[in-house]
Amino acid sequence: MVDTHCHLNFRAFKDDLEACLSRASEVGVNYMINPGSQYDTSKRSVELAKKYDNLYAAIGLHPIHLFAMEVDEGEDHFATRAEVFDYEKYRDLAKPDSKVVAIGECGLDYFHLPPGRTIAEVRAVQIELLKQQIKLATDLNLPMIFHCREAYEDLLEVLQAEVKQGQLPQGGVVHCFLGDREQAQAFLDLGLLLSFTGIITFKNVKPELIEVIKQTPLDKIMIETDAPYLAPAPHRGQRNEPAFVAEVAKKIADIKGISLAEVDKTTTENAQRLFRLSSLSQAQRRL
Ligand SMILES: [Zn+2]
Repeated sequence: MVDTHCHLNFRAFKDDLEACLSRASEVGVNYMINPGSQYDTSKRSVELAKKYDNLYAAIGLHPIHLFAMEVDEGEDHFATRAEVFDYEKYRDLAKPDSKVVAIGECGLDYFHLPPGRTIAEVRAVQIELLKQQIKLATDLNLPMIFHCREAYEDLLEVLQAEVKQGQLPQGGVVHCFLGDREQAQAFLDLGLLLSFTGIITFKNVKPELIEVIKQTPLDKIMIETDAPYLAPAPHRGQRNEPAFVAEVAKKIADIKGISLAEVDKTTTENAQRLFRLSSLSQAQRRL
């Protein structure tokens, strides 16, 4: 399996990263993609990918880091610093031998609004930031990892226009997908993949999300933890970690009425194809 979205680059893993990596490989999680959410965590992700064979990096500026604000995310509460996107600095992180496999996570988030700003203002600034990162992904010929919260219609509109102009040639994934069936289909029509987190294992999961999984072909699905957040059942309330991605795979097998082995195999192939993991490890072997 591939945990296509976890944040081992975050402080939550500073004391037991290696223990988490060994628990992950014990259950068959062979690769992990670590998206950054701002420059510091993107840089840390590149450092970790250099140190550990089975880790890959994604670099990007998450929309909640555009403004300084307090964020409550389950058990985690943190203050963000406002960061201005520095195109050249991010591009420098993605050197050819860096194991940077995607730009992200970036996108739109209208759930976490900074105090004293209007939605119109926040929206304009976030869309501009997203477009700059689409340009970076296009320049570097990399896929993208999109974060989207309460903004699916705007994300679709931006991506449809960009794709029409030949941007985003390597496609991408809408991570932690929570949208409806029409939105899911519209992202698939753009050639994007959808990835699902432990939310699909929660008792109170929206029935429509289960329908989205039924409707989405397995070769368009990836699995992720979004660790340290969103621990799946039966680990809810704990810090999440890559080993728990197996619970997401089990739930997808259950929803689709197929074997776990098939989910593991196909979602792994999807991740290898999108992030070009196998060609990358071959390239590294040649070094
Ligand atoms: Zn994330």
